[in-house]
Amino acid sequence: MNGTTTESITESARDVVIVGSGVSGLSAAVYAARADLDPLVLEGPEPGGQLTLTTEVENYLGFPEGVGGMELLQRGKEQAERFGATFERATVESAHLEDRPFALELSTGDAIETRALIVATGASARWVGAENEDELMGYGLSTCATCDGAFHRGDDVLVIGGGDSAMEEALFLARFAESVTVVHRRDELRASDIMARRARDHEKISFRWNAELLEIHGSRDDGVTGATLVSHPDGYPKDRYQDGDGVDLETVEIGGIFYGVGHVPNTDFLVDTPVPLDDEGHLLTETGMTTKTAVEGVFGAGDVMDPDYRQAVTAAGTGSMAALDAETWLDELEATADFDAPLEAV
Ligand code: NAP
Repeated sequence: MNGTTTESITESARDVVIVGSGVSGLSAAVYAARADLDPLVLEGPEPGGQLTLTTEVENYLGFPEGVGGMELLQRGKEQAERFGATFERATVESAHLEDRPFALELSTGDAIETRALIVATGASARWVGAENEDELMGYGLSTCATCDGAFHRGDDVLVIGGGDSAMEEALFLARFAESVTVVHRRDELRASDIMARRARDHEKISFRWNAELLEIHGSRDDGVTGATLVSHPDGYPKDRYQDGDGVDLETVEIGGIFYGVGHVPNTDFLVDTPVPLDDEGHLLTETGMTTKTAVEGVFGAGDVMDPDYRQAVTAAGTGSMAALDAETWLDELEATADFDAPLEAV
């Protein structure tokens, strides 16, 4: 430890570090800062998280006319800074959570220590595994209609998926594209009724049921020019194709493809730590109304710990809960002056 004593490390450790700067991280920062915990927010590789990719948020309480995703985030950051939260453009490369205080190694090369850690790292867009997707992502293939939709004025485009994200992408793309075809692997949408109805009622949007994307055609110079779709009347055609079952293959000419097939939680940096994750990688919190994890002092907030609701407003809610839980835990720690006690077995 370069001659530094445990005592001085403990003194230099922060009370709270929040990893992630989406809605949940910002909400945690507002609460932690107002509690005088001087939180540091590590903004991560995509500052602001998924909401930066949303144009209009219509269901966040208090905005009857809707609010832009970027505006909501910017205002949240200003609110957190007003109470004293600080922000750093850094990602956690590795976390050492076996001993107290916790130690984090950052992408900036810095190492920091903290007594409480709030994980609010959100989730990133899932890819479908079609041939050529590595090559063409960003070249006519996208996971973000609001970012790239305007490049497809007059194009015929595909949207892959059957949930709310896919419907939202399709509706946004319909502003620019000549036609939007939603390709879904079965014949029933997962999307909410209101989103499904809007998409179904839109004259530019049509549906290819029981179909999946097998291969993307094109090049980085020409962009996406077409796709091979696989279909089967009973759904999940790609599995059947891989099993050697009879399926239909079809080539379509299109100018863009957008993935809207959900997200995977950003928990890679926790894989080798004692913090438990579920099979999909979500951070597991204890049962009941809490953001505590099985590792005392580590709390989870937002989409990284929420496979079910995943709304901006619920992310804000769990962010505030995580800060309150961290505050209570720090108070208890201070009361017992037990900063250096070994962690309880997980
Ligand atoms: P989701 O609800 O998990 O839907 C993912 C969709 O992609 C499903 O239809 C799924 O098919 C399909 N899919 C998954 N992996 C696939 C693969 N490898 N190949 C082909 N298709 C695949 O995810 P989401 O749409 O991102 O929504 C997540 C949450 O955010 C939901 O709670 C949603 O309500 C919310 N959300 C809300 C809004 C809004 O209200 N404006 C907008 C976006 C998201 P299956 O159905 O067959 O599983």
